[in-house]
Amino acid sequence: MFELQGVSKCFGNTWALHPLDLVVPEGRTTVLLGPSGCGKSTLLRLMNGLLRPDSGRVLFGGQPLREEDLLAVRQRIGYALQGGGLFPHLTAEGNATLMARYLKWPGARVKQRLDELVALTRFPPDALGRYPGQLSGGQRQRVSLMRALMLEPDVLLLDEPLGALDPMIRHELQEDLRDIFARLGKTVVLVTHDLGEGAFLGQHVVLLREGRVVQQGPLGELERAP
Ligand code: ADP
Ligand code: ADP
Repeated sequence: MFELQGVSKCFGNTWALHPLDLVVPEGRTTVLLGPSGCGKSTLLRLMNGLLRPDSGRVLFGGQPLREEDLLAVRQRIGYALQGGGLFPHLTAEGNATLMARYLKWPGARVKQRLDELVALTRFPPDALGRYPGQLSGGQRQRVSLMRALMLEPDVLLLDEPLGALDPMIRHELQEDLRDIFARLGKTVVLVTHDLGEGAFLGQHVVLLREGRVVQQGPLGELERAP
């Protein structure tokens, strides 16, 4: 689904990512795993074109990500920011449906898609009118997920979707996420620094350390990290 060829990224004189090659397989969940600061978020932002690589190229569906195609391509890539990235002045419904309304989908279509997503993410329908500040952490994550999925993207990119949650809710949402990914059957790329979470949710794992890919492959084939 994604292929990165010799891709690197530098901020000032910090190498966020050294030149790397990477393949993200289609229809499965790939986990980008590693300690804070190792380049996971940078890698995710390179995949949806929010960042441009300093060298190499990023292929999406076999085609290079080109500047002029980015708007169209981003509609095929659902992206949930670290921390949810919800707008505080919009309700849960407003946040979830933002992109569809921006694209002027007819109201009935927006409503139908919202209903599907409420069911999929198990978001409580009576909380749709609440603002992010009035929602629990788990509910905010579900809204963030609905927003990322609104346009029926081919790919879902999630940056530390469970990072800010307390352990009980985190565990519950992990199970829900695994169930959701299985039902979607789409390509998912998920960033986490939590090995257990990565192993629970991922089928394909990319281990990063200090801006380098240490290992990548199907979960069962990974060797013990040195
Ligand atoms: P993460 O938790 O994934 O490491 P951060 O919280 O460090 O992410 O980064 C949040 C935002 O700040 C991102 O947009 C990132 O690009 C930016 N950022 C991270 N590190 C720096 C830095 N050293 N200088 C400037 N911006 C940074
Ligand atoms: P991770 O997601 O694994 O925590 P990041 O990709 O956020 O790591 O960051 C990798 C490195 O790049 C870190 O050293 C971070 O501070 C740096 N970095 C990330 N974004 C920026 C930015 N916008 N400006 C400067 N440095 C950044």
